Amino acid sequence: MPEEIIHSLGAVPVRLLGLSQTTENAHSKLPSWLCYYARRILEDGLKGEFNQVDGIVGMTTDDTKMHLYSAYTFYVKHGFSYLIQTPYVRDELSLNFFAEELERFAIKLSQYLSVEFDEEKLRNSVKVYNRFRRLCEELCDLRSDDAPKLSGVDWMKIMLGSTCMLKDDFNRMLEEKLEHVKDSEGIKDYMLRVHVSGTDHYDLEILSLIESLGAVIVSDDLCTATGYFAGFVSESKSPLRGLAERYLSCSSCILSSNPDSLSIEDRIAFIKKRIKKSRAKALIVLRDRGCEICGHQYPLIIEALRNFPVLILDVDIPISVEQYATRIEAFIESHAR
Ligand code: SF4
Repeated sequence: MPEEIIHSLGAVPVRLLGLSQTTENAHSKLPSWLCYYARRILEDGLKGEFNQVDGIVGMTTDDTKMHLYSAYTFYVKHGFSYLIQTPYVRDELSLNFFAEELERFAIKLSQYLSVEFDEEKLRNSVKVYNRFRRLCEELCDLRSDDAPKLSGVDWMKIMLGSTCMLKDDFNRMLEEKLEHVKDSEGIKDYMLRVHVSGTDHYDLEILSLIESLGAVIVSDDLCTATGYFAGFVSESKSPLRGLAERYLSCSSCILSSNPDSLSIEDRIAFIKKRIKKSRAKALIVLRDRGCEICGHQYPLIIEALRNFPVLILDVDIPISVEQYATRIEAFIESHAR
């Protein structure tokens, strides 16, 4: 989601994350096989948890997000709504279309907010977001140390904080955090360095369980964490063109691809790069039972990683962590350093 556009118009971009542990209301409005990420958002929306939100913006990145957008805008009425049409191929035609689509979105939102869309302000917002990405990369690098300076749980808390604050303020907090963490001792008493893979996972319970059983999470490719900030927007091009390129080409974007390749190849390359950098020795997959992307992609990802140790955990709500404990413990012990 090109948050920079919303930021440049003086609004605060907030990512909706549902916290409900049951989704009985959403069940009657959405197909029950949809991912729990989508069901929880609708559930919280129906319960009025997002009443402070003025508008909703979705993207056509996968079928579930389109289903969610339709149901959400139908049942939960906010003042503004827009579904950004997202191409799947990164050729010139698609990039031009996407840059124009982003402009349409910017104009619609500016009319709703009664402010003028200004390219200079957007340029400034791009800088703020790139600063955020640079700080996140710096902080994330500290997880690669022999004694990682941040646990996976702390990392996810930071990422979650970034989804609901103005990035100008958040960047200041990140700078302070970086100073504070840089010289800390780090985590030394662990048995296994782990990369966590998945899509829109953000619950702390399973991450916490993994680390309490002796592993340390040193990297991830979750859309809610490393997949969220990875990839910069060019500051030398027109901001809309720069945004179109970044949001179609960042390797965490799981469905768009170059004309001569598949999106899964990008995703595998992204995961391998993160594993290499963090020196993770095993992979734990948090697979949302209803996620079509997880269903299609993981057999190919695991095949590409060949003999790398992998543990797949199927996740659904309500999350009951006890059911995973024995498998995680056995996995960590079998691959401990
Ligand atoms: S990527 Fe998977 S988890 Fe995320 S919205 Fe789509 S189906 Fe749901």
